[in-house]
Amino acid sequence: MSNPVKETLWDPIAGFGVTFRTMFRKPVTEQYPFTKVPTAPRFHGRHQLNRWPDGLEKCIGCELCAWACPADAIYVEGASNIDDADGSGRFSPGERYGRVYQINYLRCILCGLCIEACPTRALTMTNEYELANDNRADLIWEKDDLLAPLLPGMVEPPHEMMISDDHHDYYRGKQLPIVGVSSGASTGSTDAGDDE
Ligand code: SF4
Ligand code: SF4
Repeated sequence: MSNPVKETLWDPIAGFGVTFRTMFRKPVTEQYPFTKVPTAPRFHGRHQLNRWPDGLEKCIGCELCAWACPADAIYVEGASNIDDADGSGRFSPGERYGRVYQINYLRCILCGLCIEACPTRALTMTNEYELANDNRADLIWEKDDLLAPLLPGMVEPPHEMMISDDHHDYYRGKQLPIVGVSSGASTGSTDAGDDE
């Protein structure tokens, strides 16, 4: 049952008390985009397709990420690595690689289920959140947009396996020395910038 004396006398005082307390607190308004506040380390930003230390791609084109996606935002087409004598057709260790990889950021809800499904940790999420664009086509990110940049020592695929001849060694996490690229293999840039 309501108390008329309390409602008449105390409640306004309590209400104005909240107002006065707030007046002397530091404002929490963020001046975005002039000041960018760092995200939490586990913030789900845009995706990244990662590489092995020799530059080969971790994606094996298995499509598990696409099947896990509740928004149907991922499209993958796998293809076979063609292990030529000069290694000219190899993009990842093992049999297959992701030939086509697209993420549709018009659909993606950044839930992270795709990265949980990925068996090779090829797919992770960065802290980058500035994804807005002024047209729909540019919000479909292709493999080239998603691939991690090459760090020093990495070589742009296609090339032969440089960590070990046995692709299982990649997945066992063996830190074997990179043995170099045989003649005829592509040698790309070695820019840094991988934020995996
Ligand atoms: S983060 Fe979620 S919605 Fe976005 S691509 Fe991955 S599974 Fe799909
Ligand atoms: S990103 Fe991972 S789950 Fe998706 S196709 Fe590549 S290896 Fe498979």
